[in-house]
Amino acid sequence: MREQLVVLDTLRRIDLELSKLEQNLNDYPEKISDFESELETAKARLESLHGENQTLQKNKAGLELEISSNEDLIKKAEQKLFEIKTHKEYEALQKEIADTKRRNAELEDKVLEHMTRLEQVEAEIAAGREDLAAKEAEYGEKINSYKEKLEEIRSLYEPKKEEKEKIASRISPELIPIYKKIGKRNGGVIALAKAEVCTGCNMKIPSQLFNEVLTHTRFIQCPNCQKILYTEDELNSAATPE
Ligand SMILES: [Zn+2]
Repeated sequence: MREQLVVLDTLRRIDLELSKLEQNLNDYPEKISDFESELETAKARLESLHGENQTLQKNKAGLELEISSNEDLIKKAEQKLFEIKTHKEYEALQKEIADTKRRNAELEDKVLEHMTRLEQVEAEIAAGREDLAAKEAEYGEKINSYKEKLEEIRSLYEPKKEEKEKIASRISPELIPIYKKIGKRNGGVIALAKAEVCTGCNMKIPSQLFNEVLTHTRFIQCPNCQKILYTEDELNSAATPE
């Protein structure tokens, strides 16, 4: 009887440890991948800013090239003005010059817009770099620590399962259904019965039943919480298994 109580209690403790290990085996990889995906997001944001920066630079260079070739056109046209003989041709060329100048003014506005956006993007890149560096330092440390813990848990898990099998094989068959039913509840599978009260649930144990607990002749469950009742003298003399 006494040995079975200790076996039950030990089994429950091992089960709790196992379920905690299992929880962490599930949770830690998730936490690691959360941190990793946050790093990926920060990296992707920075990459897209770099992409925008390049596109802006390229477009700005294209605009500047167009402006400068327009300036050449204007210069040549202005020189040509002196050589023109007819009034009609003169007017046409003057219109062309004015149109090209207007076009250049528009292009210059666009260049300014590009420069404004480039400044913003460069500031965002600087901030993004800082953010990424901070995250890499912080999350890198966390990821490593979770990976280390995971290694440790993996090395503990199998031996703990073997320990459970060993203990479980010692349970008396009549207790197995009881353990399966209440072993996963909070607060243990055995409860001290003291002064006709179950200390597992604080309910009064009927006197007749309590007297039976005191005789240690069979396993008695608390009528309220179903825990297997034991007495103080049993606890004090209980030997640890093995
Ligand atoms: Zn109880």
